[in-house]
Amino acid sequence: MLKDYPLKQLVQPLLEWYPHHARVLPWREEPTPYRVWVSEIMLQQTRVEAVKPYFERFMRELSNIELLANCPQERLLKLWEGLGYYNRVRNMQKAACTVMEEYDGVLPADYEALLKLKGIGHYTAGAIASIAYGIPVPAVDGNVLRILMRVSEDDSDILKQSVKTEAEKLLQPVIPKKQAGMFTQAMMELGATVCVPNGEPKCAQCPWQPFCMAYKNGSYAGLPKKGKAKPRKIEEKTVLVIRDGENVLLHRRPKRGLLAGMYEFPNLEGHLTREEVTKYVESLELLPLKIEPLEDARHIFSHIEWQMSGYMVRVAQLEEPAGQKEGYVFVNKEVSEHKYAIPSAFARYTRYMNIHLGISKEQTE
Ligand code: SF4
Repeated sequence: MLKDYPLKQLVQPLLEWYPHHARVLPWREEPTPYRVWVSEIMLQQTRVEAVKPYFERFMRELSNIELLANCPQERLLKLWEGLGYYNRVRNMQKAACTVMEEYDGVLPADYEALLKLKGIGHYTAGAIASIAYGIPVPAVDGNVLRILMRVSEDDSDILKQSVKTEAEKLLQPVIPKKQAGMFTQAMMELGATVCVPNGEPKCAQCPWQPFCMAYKNGSYAGLPKKGKAKPRKIEEKTVLVIRDGENVLLHRRPKRGLLAGMYEFPNLEGHLTREEVTKYVESLELLPLKIEPLEDARHIFSHIEWQMSGYMVRVAQLEEPAGQKEGYVFVNKEVSEHKYAIPSAFARYTRYMNIHLGISKEQTE
């Protein structure tokens, strides 16, 4: 069990291993509090390789907290397009405004003060405080929990908050006071590259192998233990790619809730028939000329799964602004790619207007 395990013995081998095995990552080159913050928020739910180009583009455009605080929301969402979990960036902007008002534009060098900022939880506060400011506080996420549970052969359910809180408490006294940042990063690196979540852990390369209970007893495959997560709610939708010549109709989502304020293809609850689609398109004051079914698609959010069917609907050319209801806009490819943030949930259908979402747009330019 973790609470009975002598964690102190792990510190020195880890610190000796890290400098020789750390990957070169853009946010590690200059670990300012702002860069650590942005990278940690991006890395939640997203792989390192996927984050790299987003991080670099974000930093080119919003290189400091003031620029983030003042960035128009449409542009901010556009910079985040493809990363998903858009509340992360909305909260980051709210926190940036607080930092401008209360801390003169500099993230506070104080764990408790960081925790009070919007969107910053214990893990992110610990990462910023230790990596950027050298404050000896723990940063425990799923990666760190996994390696701790394996090394101590603890089968507690890591989805329980109490297990995470106890791990933080037990780790706190062993963090080396002068190398807190390196210790945090080394734990993350070991979890990401050696004691990996999917597939066999690379025990032969692990600096903790001589101390690892799961390795000794061959139990690592069953660790860490995770209780059952709540099943996702299934939502059926019909997505409409409505084309007027080269232009496609987009709709702005409500200001609150899932994907708030982003642009989407008009879509309706349930899997609709052609007749139902025709009626809906006419209700938008458009004249449907041709309706063709498109392939199905699926998108998984953390608690919801969209199961989508789609139609391409060609409508008659209409004179502006006729046919445009409030919240709807006809756009062409160029304008859409640079201005309107479309969630990746619609990626299967954006290709019908030759739009590349997120960073892939720049890679194809
Ligand atoms: Fe993980 Fe293996 Fe290292 Fe144990 S020895 S911490 S199971 S990689």
